[in-house]
Amino acid sequence: MTTHERSYDVIVAGLGAMGSATMYALARAQGPARRVLGIDRFSPPHGLGSSHGRTRIIREAYFEHPAYVPIVRRAFDLWRELEHEVGRPLYTKTRGITLGPENGTLVRGARASASTDALPIAPMPATMTSYCWSLTVTA
Ligand SMILES: Cc1cc2nc3c(=O)[nH]c(=O)nc-3n(C[C@H](O)[C@H](O)[C@H](O)COP(=O)(O)OP(=O)(O)OC[C@H]3O[C@@H](n4cnc5c(N)ncnc54)[C@H](O)[C@@H]3O)c2cc1C
Repeated sequence: MTTHERSYDVIVAGLGAMGSATMYALARAQGPARRVLGIDRFSPPHGLGSSHGRTRIIREAYFEHPAYVPIVRRAFDLWRELEHEVGRPLYTKTRGITLGPENGTLVRGARASASTDALPIAPMPATMTSYCWSLTVTA
């Protein structure tokens, strides 16, 4: 190895939201110091990946599987920590609506996630949904 060459314990390829968060976690990790290198084909932050834009949503009751609930809760903690670190709000808690047929994949899955971790959810009749948001809802 020449004096210009360096070795790294971890190399993160791609510094969008995922790669940046990985770099951040590695930089803050306890234990022996690691040499970490981040590589991106552009100069982050940039608008040439999926992570650009002003907002993203995180759902607590993901329909895909109840296993996501504790992961999302951990993500909420980390967003709060990051807000504290940078000294400004980054995350706004809102309510969410999952729309779909009562026995459809979406509603059944969201309910399963909610019941596994005792998340507060309430069924909303189609008539109320269409009244509140002027939607045409077909059961
Ligand atoms: C319009 C839109 C809306 C979305 N809304 C949501 C939402 O509401 N909630 C949600 O959870 N998710 C949402 N997603 C998905 C979410 O934004 C993405 O899953 C997430 O941002 C992906 O982050 P990433 O770091 O994996 O990818 P990216 O942000 O795309 O980052 C990849 C990085 O890798 C770099 N790169 C690529 N190829 C190379 C290479 N060969 N060498 C070096 N670097 C390279 C790119 O330049 C880029 O910086 C949305 C996505 C889009 C497009």
